[in-house]
Amino acid sequence: MKKHYDWLIVGAGYTGAIIAERLATQSGKRSLVIDRRDHIAGNAYDRRNDAGVLFHQYGPHIFHTNAQVVVDYLSKFTDWLPYEHRVLGSINGRLIPIPFNLTSLHILFPKTEADRLTKILIDAYGMDQKVTILKMRESPSQEVRDLADFIYKNVFLGYTTKQWGLSPEELSPSVTARVPVYISYDDRYFQDAFQNMPKHGYTKMFERIFAQDGIDVSLNTDLRDVSEEITYDRLLYTGAIDEYFNFELGELPYRSLEFDFQTYSQKRHQAAGQVNYPISEDFTRITEMSYLTQEWSDVTTVAIEYPIAHIPGKTVPYYPIPRDENLDLHNKYAELAAREAPNVTFAGRLGDYKYYNMDQAIGRALSLFKKEMEPR
Ligand code: FAD
Ligand code: UDP
Repeated sequence: MKKHYDWLIVGAGYTGAIIAERLATQSGKRSLVIDRRDHIAGNAYDRRNDAGVLFHQYGPHIFHTNAQVVVDYLSKFTDWLPYEHRVLGSINGRLIPIPFNLTSLHILFPKTEADRLTKILIDAYGMDQKVTILKMRESPSQEVRDLADFIYKNVFLGYTTKQWGLSPEELSPSVTARVPVYISYDDRYFQDAFQNMPKHGYTKMFERIFAQDGIDVSLNTDLRDVSEEITYDRLLYTGAIDEYFNFELGELPYRSLEFDFQTYSQKRHQAAGQVNYPISEDFTRITEMSYLTQEWSDVTTVAIEYPIAHIPGKTVPYYPIPRDENLDLHNKYAELAAREAPNVTFAGRLGDYKYYNMDQAIGRALSLFKKEMEPR
């Protein structure tokens, strides 16, 4: 006889793990969570390499949030290690804080000019205010526009073109708005109230989320592999929605990455956790894992990120590409889902086709459970 589950959950990342945990502990529902990869934790997966360094296999993951409900939830499964991320940009041989701030200005310009531009920015926007580069380029002041053009050319244009294969104007403004110009001397990458890393890593935290009666996990398992093996009442799908429908409305565009992990026999490789290369090089950024994990030794591992085009079936769809025509196509898939797959819930960065940070994926999973799955 086939084994029966209340839920089949496709994807063992945040969305799948959290819904499975909530279903098991709050509703007494049994689920089978499958992932085609050989591990849990989705893109947040971390592990030790041969040199013993804890690293993030799918790119650096820094946890930050303003959502207390997300902190309260995850704190049941992990202790925390305080970590405030700092990023430097390599601009014509100099390293400046990113997001571009008043310190960046003083590194790149002679003091009197930097002081003058600082005053212009504070007059225009106020101290400790953030302004997106696209808004700053539309300023009524010629001097603000000139400075905006300088920052645009040196920080945003090259990086964005490498990262997305598109210019900032061809993307939703929300993309470059993630890294606004900051009229401040605060050189942290994020200003969120909560900035901590899971003390023993992401994978350990996921192991504890999954360790509930009522959850079975099957790795190296694609949706195709199980549909004949088990029976279930409902399906939660956290993979790419276009793939679920065999691309019948066309391919949703994603951007992929190639990671070059290098381990060096030195204590520390670079001056900050992350160094961006907005102008030079084919890669966008180099992240040194020991800054994030705060485990320092005689060796250190860095991740060098090369953006590449995504080819379904060949590369990993890391980033949905936020721009109007893609969101329109996603809406068509969502309509198709409502019509033809009423028993399937789509969620997550790929299922929703939304550029979620971890805390947003977690918040979405918690509210989805509350709205649609919690017993009343
Ligand atoms: P995922 O983690 O993508 O999990 C989906 C899972 O579904 C995958 O494991 C996949 O193998 C599986 N799957 C898909 N289709 C199938 C199928 N047909 N059968 C079986 N399994 C399937 N967020 C931050 O907050 N801070 C950061 O610093 C940060 N850095 C990031 C860096 C990179 C390079 C990337 C790509 C993302 C980063 N994120 C970061 C975002 C974070 O990874 C996501 O918000 C989060 O992982 C989303 O979780 P999810 O459950 O939606 O999806
Ligand atoms: N960005 C940029 N230059 C930088 C950093 C970011 O142009 O030095 C732009 C780029 O378009 C990037 C976006 O801002 O894709 C968002 O950056 P973030 O660091 O949030 O990207 P993620 O960590 O999600 O890859």
